[in-house]
Amino acid sequence: MAGLLPVEEALARVLAGAAPLPEEWIPVGACDGRVLTRDLVSGRSQPPDDMSSMDGYAVRSADLPGQLTVIGESAAGRGFGGSVTAGTAVRIFTGAPVPAGADAIVMQEDTAREGDQVVMARAARDGQFIRRRGLDFTEGLTGLAAGTLMNPRRLALAAAMNHANVPVHRRPRVAILSTGDELVEPGTAPGPDQIVSSNALALAAIVRRAGGEPTMLGIAPDRLDETLARVRAARETGHDVLVTSGGASVGEYDLMREVIAAEGAAPGFWKIAMRPGKPLMMADLGPMRLLGLPGNPVASFVCATLFLRPLLLRLAGRADRTDETEDAVLGTDVGPNDLRADHLRATLATRDGRLVATPFPVQDSSMIRVLAEADALILRPPHAPAAAAGSPCRILRLDP
Ligand code: AMP
Ligand code: MG
Repeated sequence: MAGLLPVEEALARVLAGAAPLPEEWIPVGACDGRVLTRDLVSGRSQPPDDMSSMDGYAVRSADLPGQLTVIGESAAGRGFGGSVTAGTAVRIFTGAPVPAGADAIVMQEDTAREGDQVVMARAARDGQFIRRRGLDFTEGLTGLAAGTLMNPRRLALAAAMNHANVPVHRRPRVAILSTGDELVEPGTAPGPDQIVSSNALALAAIVRRAGGEPTMLGIAPDRLDETLARVRAARETGHDVLVTSGGASVGEYDLMREVIAAEGAAPGFWKIAMRPGKPLMMADLGPMRLLGLPGNPVASFVCATLFLRPLLLRLAGRADRTDETEDAVLGTDVGPNDLRADHLRATLATRDGRLVATPFPVQDSSMIRVLAEADALILRPPHAPAAAAGSPCRILRLDP
């Protein structure tokens, strides 16, 4: 088959010109999974003062061992206003500021208290149980660099540095359109010859996991006016990406071609050297990139995994996820591959410390159930020779 496009080349075309989306400021509590557009500099030092790391007494180490007079208390958020002078101690709690004059904390367990007197039988080391001002971070420190992917821990650091709002790349807005006269939404009563549309919902879930915001545009029948109206709606509402599924059969190509031409764009129709999912369509409708996936559910899913997800990660500024493939070994023998890169649905297990990928015996690309039971795709390059169980292979985990 001449003119088949290698998967890598197709991906390069899908990603061509795609750059991280512009910045927006969002509440720090909402930034999990987002990528910072700027360095976050700390507006304060933490701890803001020297703090006790124990419940006990703040003392002058030179006074110990000895008996001291307790002259006050320092609690978290309510420090002692005075000073620890010779022969005195201040009752102190974890996280409370160390009073002036004190240079050590003696743990409560090492003391005997009676009235305002406290006896400490052992010497204290200068600085013991004191967390110094700025131990964690200091004012002016870049605690989180531009490009950082936020997670719950980094979110906590941003908040601790006193950022109420943080600058992140905008999330990709992704419109999803199913096409096909035969399709009905799940939960309706399908008539004869009708199929329940499942692709759009799977695509929306993939979009969310890749950091995007999906918009459901429903099902368009195989008619130019209807399809065009939905494509225009997606454009007018400022989407970054429009994903369509279906319309990949020979007669329907012309429909999508007309839609794209009517929008004044140059259509790219490619036959990709891959299985499942040979046809893929791409066009730039102004700032909105249209990605046309095949309707076949497994092909639609695999193409979304291989092309849509990397596009969305790129738009979201996720430079951390460029190659998501991993090493494994085959769980069964596999035959030689033809000229199309194959993506075998497989289960994963760990045996003797090795990741073992076992392909399902039936790989029919229409089987959603097999896809649902799979953990990973085994990537078989074009023309890969037959390989025995135990041979190395590359895999792509599903639903990262
Ligand atoms: P097409 O690419 O439009 O020729 O569709 C190929 C196959 O995928 C046909 O059997 C369709 O019924 C099926 N199909 C298309 N769109 C969907 C969808 N949204 N959900 C489930 N199956 C679909
Ligand atoms: Mg169709």
